[in-house]
Amino acid sequence: MKVCVVGGAGFIGSHFTDRLLADAGIDLVTIYDNFSSGREWHFAHHLDDQRLRVIRAEVADLAELTAAMDDHDLVIHLASNPDIARAMTHPRVDFDEGTALTFNVAEAARLAGVGEILYASGSGVYGDLGELEVDEDHGPLIPTSTYGASKLAGEALLSSYAAMFGISASVFRFGNVVGPRQTHGVGFDFIRRLRRKPEVLEILGDGCQSKSYIHVDDVVEAVLAMRASRQKPFEAFNVATGDYITVTEIALLALQVLDLTEDTTELRYSGGDRGWKGDVPIVRLSTDRVRARGWSCKRNSEEALLASMRSLIDDDQLGRLTS
Ligand code: NAD
Repeated sequence: MKVCVVGGAGFIGSHFTDRLLADAGIDLVTIYDNFSSGREWHFAHHLDDQRLRVIRAEVADLAELTAAMDDHDLVIHLASNPDIARAMTHPRVDFDEGTALTFNVAEAARLAGVGEILYASGSGVYGDLGELEVDEDHGPLIPTSTYGASKLAGEALLSSYAAMFGISASVFRFGNVVGPRQTHGVGFDFIRRLRRKPEVLEILGDGCQSKSYIHVDDVVEAVLAMRASRQKPFEAFNVATGDYITVTEIALLALQVLDLTEDTTELRYSGGDRGWKGDVPIVRLSTDRVRARGWSCKRNSEEALLASMRSLIDDDQLGRLTS
């Protein structure tokens, strides 16, 4: 079994690499990454493993990508712009670093003869639905960010490639993913800023934004379990914990992790119901489908966030990020 992980040097990709290389049934893991947010230290512990190959290149380079996928059985596609707010100043970013990349991944798979793609989509495909808990068959899908639009476009491209070219695809609408080697996200951001300035924590919005935070280990297991239970050539899955936590509660967890309190640190809110334009303040994802196929998460949102914030400090990941 040979697997090409596109975006494999990033946060989630490096955990797929760990999990795949721990499996004796895997013959080759190819990391294909331009290292825009990927890091070598994310996979440095595997460099002695002959089954790992690393290609530093752009997904936009179709010829290089097609050559990299040669003789592979599976593609895991994780490469995209990670910053949802960036489109406010760079409106093309999610098309160029989202939709267009997914087209190239699908096309390279077709040209290279790879039969299967697993795709990191996101809850942004649903748009802003408030407290409504959405399942995968919800419609119409009305994204409210160009990031969500690019994820939805990617899903549509993959469903069409499944029907037209026989490339099976599973698309995964993740909640917020947290864990070691995280490169962005609210808990990560709070720890980083509190380290610099413990007296005050600036919080975007009113702190009532409420979402599910899932540990990356749970994400990797869910994706591989759903792949093993495939029923149709194209399938979509929500991958989340089923519980929710607010931004203020996350701020309090960050204080706890750093041995700070509300007496030592002022929580200062920018106000408004969302952090930035395109942010969806309340996200509710049904997890019935993944649970019906036998998966359940090992950590709830609070446990996942605590584990990820502690690992940022214990492994000095913040130091490595700035070095
Ligand atoms: P990440 O930024 O750590 O990983 C993305 C990787 O893709 C990086 O290594 C980056 O260098 C690489 N990359 C980006 N553009 C590329 C290009 N043009 N060519 C080659 N490589 C490129 O992000 P992540 O958190 O690991 O997310 C992985 C995927 O999961 C993304 O598609 C993201 O949208 C999706 N996702 C993430 C979350 C989350 O909370 N982290 C939630 C939902 C969906």
